[in-house]
Amino acid sequence: MRKPVIAGNWKMYKLLSEAVDTALALKPLVANANHCEVVIAPVFVHLKTVADRLEGSNIRVAAQDCSTEVKEGAHTGEVSAQMIEDVGASHVIIGHSERRQFYGETDESVNKKTKAALSFGLTAIVCVGEMLAERESGNAESVVKTQLVGATDGLTVSDMERIIIAYEPVWAIGTGKVATPEQAQEMHGFIRRTVSERHGKEIADATRILYGGSVKPDNIAGLMHQADIDGALVGGASLEAESFAQIVNFK
Ligand code: PEP
Repeated sequence: MRKPVIAGNWKMYKLLSEAVDTALALKPLVANANHCEVVIAPVFVHLKTVADRLEGSNIRVAAQDCSTEVKEGAHTGEVSAQMIEDVGASHVIIGHSERRQFYGETDESVNKKTKAALSFGLTAIVCVGEMLAERESGNAESVVKTQLVGATDGLTVSDMERIIIAYEPVWAIGTGKVATPEQAQEMHGFIRRTVSERHGKEIADATRILYGGSVKPDNIAGLMHQADIDGALVGGASLEAESFAQIVNFK
């Protein structure tokens, strides 16, 4: 049985007081959500404060990225997986399409970051997803497979047990254009088959695959009813406690 995960990516939104207010408002609204894991991802500089304020709750905290570098050193501007773990976060989002598109993230750096995260006990939420032109030219599956194989290259069985995959078609992120549940299921099934071919059926059956791209309170149920959709990575609709809680408490 795969326990669903609903994760909120706050991107570069919210000042510290707003992040704390949203986290505290969310706490009672999802306190009874035992059916899924709840994760929120504030910016780096808010991680410790938010994690401290959520201590003892059922909400976990994620970073939105981490360094490829594992050891401390002269890497100005970088934040290591160990530092993220040290301030109380348990997850890290890696390879988000905004980082791939605008900040030079590659399959190789995603792979290194994933290994760095896992080596410090963090759960890596590894993002994959095709651009609109790639879907329209019939290349969506090959693009996603290349990203997936690149991200997971060299991972052991026990590494694979600690990653979550997020399928986020780029054309659906922040655009209001959600993939239909059937389109999403088709790709999630493909991702699970790919994991199965590479890492075995047992790992594939246990791997959580989240959908991301304009998930809202009114479309979450349709997505979650699909066999291979195990949760959601939510951007815009995670910024308000009420709408994110409605997604967490989907029926
Ligand atoms: C995201 O940023 O990962 C995302 C899916 O954003 P949105 O829900 O706003 O489309």
